[in-house]
Amino acid sequence: MDFQRSPFGEKLSQPSGILELMNDLGEGLTTNRDAIMMGGGNPAQIPKVQEVWREQARRLVDDANAIGNVLANYDPPSGNPAFLQSLATFLKSHCGWQVTEKNLAVTMGGQTGLFFLLNLFSGGGRKILLPLMPEYIGYSNQLADPDAFVTHPAKLELRGDHRFKYHVDFESLEIGDDIGAICVSRPTNPSANVLTDDEIQRLAALAEEHGIPLIIDNAYGHPFPGVIFSDAKPFWNSHVIQTLSLSKLGLPGTRTGIVVANEDIAGRIAAMTAVAGLANNNFGQALVKPLLEGDQLIKLCDEVIRPYYAKRCEFASGKLDSELSGDIPYRLHETEGAFFLWLWLEDLPITSRELYLRLKERGVIVVPGEYFFYDLKEDWQHQRQCLRISYTQPHDRVEKGLGLIGDEIKKVYQGL
Ligand code: PLP
Repeated sequence: MDFQRSPFGEKLSQPSGILELMNDLGEGLTTNRDAIMMGGGNPAQIPKVQEVWREQARRLVDDANAIGNVLANYDPPSGNPAFLQSLATFLKSHCGWQVTEKNLAVTMGGQTGLFFLLNLFSGGGRKILLPLMPEYIGYSNQLADPDAFVTHPAKLELRGDHRFKYHVDFESLEIGDDIGAICVSRPTNPSANVLTDDEIQRLAALAEEHGIPLIIDNAYGHPFPGVIFSDAKPFWNSHVIQTLSLSKLGLPGTRTGIVVANEDIAGRIAAMTAVAGLANNNFGQALVKPLLEGDQLIKLCDEVIRPYYAKRCEFASGKLDSELSGDIPYRLHETEGAFFLWLWLEDLPITSRELYLRLKERGVIVVPGEYFFYDLKEDWQHQRQCLRISYTQPHDRVEKGLGLIGDEIKKVYQGL
């Protein structure tokens, strides 16, 4: 029996890029372990980081009172009060943000935080402006209202023979009365771009001028996990909403995100949590709280997590350069943060989705670029010429995967 569905229900439950990506990721990490998983944004299993979380889990389990509270109690919908207090102090001292626990709301992962925020500011004719496409695939099916994204293609700066960088095209950026919020991911998933401090300040000033918030999705950024290789600074004020996540610290299974916003918005996010899920998963908050209280978390990010990904990134981009050197007209986006290489194949004879399927046949999972260019007003050839390649899997798998990717790309250009 095929029951009638609402437009919103249909939108949320239909096949989507994020569903395909998460299915590929889930299968690659569980049932189909032979596949080389270079698709999703799963964090790497970094031994020193895993040891920290194991130690914290042991501490919790050995403390009957603490584990009892974690397992047996619902927290308030805004999050665990003690965690929120420690986090507010941490953000004040490490980022200089003037926040208290009233500016914070924990959510069931950053993804859910974005779902709440994007729907809080869109609908009834209000729209969300995404000023730099390509942008995170995870937003594309989130809005209850159809056609509520206004998306702008990035401006391309070519650098040398094989690099490029995206910029916000401020000259063509119009903010109409119907715009309810501006949203960017920084570092940007998929491109590894990090919007410059100047770009962020200009976007924040535009938001303030129009009386709307600028949402900065900071899943990979400062202060944690701090996977930013440029000198970009964290930025927050009462017109800015930051979303943070524990996932890229190696804790995606705890499903913990944090919204940092003015008190009214933080309160509304907590209210949405109560409606959608009563309370949040509190395990991740309990694991991380002690590390917020000294400089342990910052040290872990500065001394272990960032150097780990920086080294990985250098290896992966060098390997891809050597695989593609010769006649392939390729460019890599400057790798400024996050976990990905963003490969642009100019004049690619097939679409990047077809290339993704060919690579899947050969046992390598990547993400086709098409998914990250949604709701554009005009067709853009560039959107069918890019691949997102994650380098978080073990070294030998990444090396093998990049070898297969290079080989398949050469075949495609040879017409094979
Ligand atoms: N935002 C960006 C840019 C991401 O890449 C991700 C996950 O990959 C998320 C948000 C959501 O992450 P989580 O819900 O695990 O916090």
